[in-house]
Amino acid sequence: MPSFDFDLFVIGGGSGGVRSARVAASLGKKVGIAEEYRYGGTCVIRGCVPKKLFVYASQYSEHFEDAAGYGWTVGESTFDWKKLIAAKDKEIARLEGLYRKGLDNAKAEIFDTRAELVDAHTIKLLKTGQTVTAETIVIATGGRPNLHTALPGYELCISSNEAFHLEELPKSILIAGGGYIAVEFANIFHGLGVETTLIYRGAEILSRFDQDLRKGLHEAMEEKGIRILCQDIISSVEKVDGGLTVRTKNDKVLHVDTVMLALGRTPNTESLGLDAAGVAMNEHGAVIVDAYSRTSVPNIYALGDVTDRVQLTPVAIHEAMCFIETVYKNNPTRPDHDLIPTAVFSQPEIGTVGLTEEDAAKRYPEIEVYRAQFRPMKATLSGRSEKMIMKLIVNAADRKVIGAHILGHDAGEMAQLLGITLKAGCTKDDFDRTMAVHPTAAEELVTMYSPSYRIRNGERV
Ligand code: NDP
Repeated sequence: MPSFDFDLFVIGGGSGGVRSARVAASLGKKVGIAEEYRYGGTCVIRGCVPKKLFVYASQYSEHFEDAAGYGWTVGESTFDWKKLIAAKDKEIARLEGLYRKGLDNAKAEIFDTRAELVDAHTIKLLKTGQTVTAETIVIATGGRPNLHTALPGYELCISSNEAFHLEELPKSILIAGGGYIAVEFANIFHGLGVETTLIYRGAEILSRFDQDLRKGLHEAMEEKGIRILCQDIISSVEKVDGGLTVRTKNDKVLHVDTVMLALGRTPNTESLGLDAAGVAMNEHGAVIVDAYSRTSVPNIYALGDVTDRVQLTPVAIHEAMCFIETVYKNNPTRPDHDLIPTAVFSQPEIGTVGLTEEDAAKRYPEIEVYRAQFRPMKATLSGRSEKMIMKLIVNAADRKVIGAHILGHDAGEMAQLLGITLKAGCTKDDFDRTMAVHPTAAEELVTMYSPSYRIRNGERV
């Protein structure tokens, strides 16, 4: 048996990398982990966590307005962007510290450097030029925003990375894209008082979500004052006195302070030595893995966004735990990518799990759709004209709930619990015999007794 410096070496200190390194080290394995930027990865440093803090910050403008309906007089309010950034940075530094501490406590060796593969068992640590060897290697280098270098003026645009550290809050912003990041940031900037426009190439934002929620969110965002331009794309961005001039394919001309591109993300695989090690990638530069996250090289695994399976933090963590079971616990375990609950932290929020109505209708001969649209109780006294939408999609043949979709406050929190019920294979009858929690919005999920409509062989009946 050849001897190696490490049992496991992990490249990338994000959600998947840190989890696999920490747990392997706690099992007594000799583990090294290298990160070139900051431990915590996209989620903690410039993704989910700071984004959610921004969401909270941006909701206060509506909270102040709503308070009047409940008898409160709120004095003049002002917002200080720099103060928010400083508070956010402090929290992110604290979390990064916890990630490092977790690795340290488990006795993983932490390297603050970029690392590249030299061959299937050798890693070069760029800061010192040192090479180390490992029996098993995990690639968990994540992804980064697409730069869209073909767009004239792309270098004048920001991505979500820069949005977390803008020197000043812009007065106006144009956000390109209709996915999670574009929609979430459009609501954040609008809530903070920025004149916000979203431009999206398709007919309706959030292409992979249930049509009802997409439409409902679109309407709610426009009602707040967010401008949404569909079926259009930016064709050029130009610097002019006092801002940027943007031209679109449909011949619109917009003048804004800032343009943000949120057009998907690219796996971080460049110059990583993958070719030298023999690790195969697909045409998008993502590492190809089998059902156990193993690459084309048997001792090298890849986890999380770098594999471009499902770009979500909990998925990377789950893949890491399956890797540990498979490699260190003699229990081959495939990551389960079925029925992943997810939330879009738009305002109102989206929470969803399972099949959309459109997909379910294609897959099953007959489905029942239970749908409720109502004004949430909180909006009565506040006078806000917002609507909640709740939908359950049921397979008529076995009564199983195969999709659950919510638009409205705390939809993400509800999606987490609905995820359990769908994973457990609950039927609509299980929902019906569950007692309601009153008065909540969620009680609607167990009180929709008759289907709003059915779809039989693709036809609504
Ligand atoms: P998404 O894949 O969600 O959205 C990308 C958007 O860009 C889509 O609207 C897509 O359009 C559009 N697009 C792609 N290429 C082009 C192009 N060439 N020209 C014009 N438009 C284009 O990616 P995001 O960047 O928003 O987010 C990346 C990932 O991060 C997400 O997939 C998600 O998994 C994760 N994420 C999760 C969050 C959460 O859980 N709340 C929050 C933020 C990110 P089309 O739909 O037509 O293809």
